[in-house]
This record gives sequence, structure tokens and C-alpha cells, in this order.
Amino acid sequence: MKTYSIAIDGPAASGKSTAAKGVAKALDFLYLDTGAMYRAITLYMIEKGLDTRSEEDAKSILDKVTMREDKNGHIFLNERDVTERVREEDVTKLVSYACAHKAVRERLVALQREMAKGESVVMDGRDIGTVVLPDATLKVYQVASVESRAKRRYLEELSKGKEASLDEIQKDIERRDYIDSHREHSPLRKAEDAILLDTSDLTIQEEIDAILSLFHEKAGELK
Ligand code: C5P
Repeated sequence: MKTYSIAIDGPAASGKSTAAKGVAKALDFLYLDTGAMYRAITLYMIEKGLDTRSEEDAKSILDKVTMREDKNGHIFLNERDVTERVREEDVTKLVSYACAHKAVRERLVALQREMAKGESVVMDGRDIGTVVLPDATLKVYQVASVESRAKRRYLEELSKGKEASLDEIQKDIERRDYIDSHREHSPLRKAEDAILLDTSDLTIQEEIDAILSLFHEKAGELK
């Protein structure tokens, strides 16, 4: 059976994962949240008291972790459900360091390709179109102004009943974007053949519809 793949990359908090989940649901494709995997590695390092900036420390744990994602978008680290935990602030602050190590990237890219094998898949991250799925049916590079991304994340935190500072959220997003786009291995950048989608003024549903229509166009060209 023919399989398809959709790669969605872009900076932090640009609404990629919500849109990617909606697209996967509409098409009945598998959804893989690659950011959650880098977050899980980071969580493991924090819990072991390791330094996320140290490549040696990162390498030392790679054969001690197993990871899987289920159909409901839950992530399991050594079979423990860490879906909520990996989105907390301590992990968010350090993930850009842990994920920059070459050994970590190689391990997770291999795992992501393995998980996607033989499946139609929607993956979101930073290097999906450039590294993980260079032959994806559709590549989307999603951007939005930093103000609109911070506001979205701020409202999300409030809706979860958490306290949040709009200013701090915006600063953290800017910091993560900087590190992600300036790192040596697989920096965040638009693949040449990716379609740029500015979601600053789009609702989630409009984003999903835009990606679905781009996908149908691309898949139609392949027939
Ligand atoms: O997408 P999310 O914000 O959950 O990703 C967390 C972090 O993981 C990003 O800030 C980025 O540093 C890293 N990441 C990455 N490559 C991916 C996905 C995420 O480097 N494919």
C-alpha cells in the first residue's frame, strides 16, 4: 500500500503540534511528536542529576532509555507516561541544550524513521523536512510572529489553570529559537522544497485546512 508523509517544521510555539494532530486525525495517519522525544531525553537527564549541556552525560544515558508514542499522542519513557511532565518549565528550559548533541540527534532520528516505517505519517519538529523525512510528500515550514506565538502559549497556560507571564514566555521562545537555529547539528531551517505557512492570523482549524489542501494538491500530483 502506498504511504504518504507530511513534515511540519518551524520555531517554538508556532502551533505545529496542534495542527499536526488535527491533520493526522483527518487523514487517519500516524502522528509523531518529535519534540516530545527530545523533551523525554531531557527529563531523564534532569532526573539523573546530569548536565544537559554535556555531550558525555547525554551519551551516557542513550542506551538506558526506551521511548514510544501511542495513538493518543502520549509519550512513554521507559514505559512511564511522561506526556504532561515533559511540558513543564524545567524541561522546556533545558531541552534546547540536550537536543543539540550529535549522538542524541542520531539516536532519535533513527528511532523516528523506524516508527514511521511502512506508515502514513505526520511528524512535527525542527528537522523533519531537512533530515528525518527528506522525501516527504509535503513539507510545511510554519511561522508566526513571536508576539502571536507567546500569546498563544500564554493563553494555553492560563487555560490549564497555571500562572504565567507573557513577557517571560516570549523571552523563552526567543531564546529557544535562537539556540535551535544556531546549533551545529541539524539547525532549524526551512527545507528548500518546504512551503512557508504564516499562521499568525489563522485559527487552528484554518491552519489544519490549509495543510490538508496543500497535501491533497501534492498527493494529487503524484498520481
Ligand atoms: O516542539 P517542542 O517545543 O516540543 O520541542 C522541544 C525542543 O526540542 C525544541 O525547542 C527543539 O530544541 C527540540 N527539537 C529538535 N528537533 C525536533 C523537535 C524538537 O531539536 N525535531
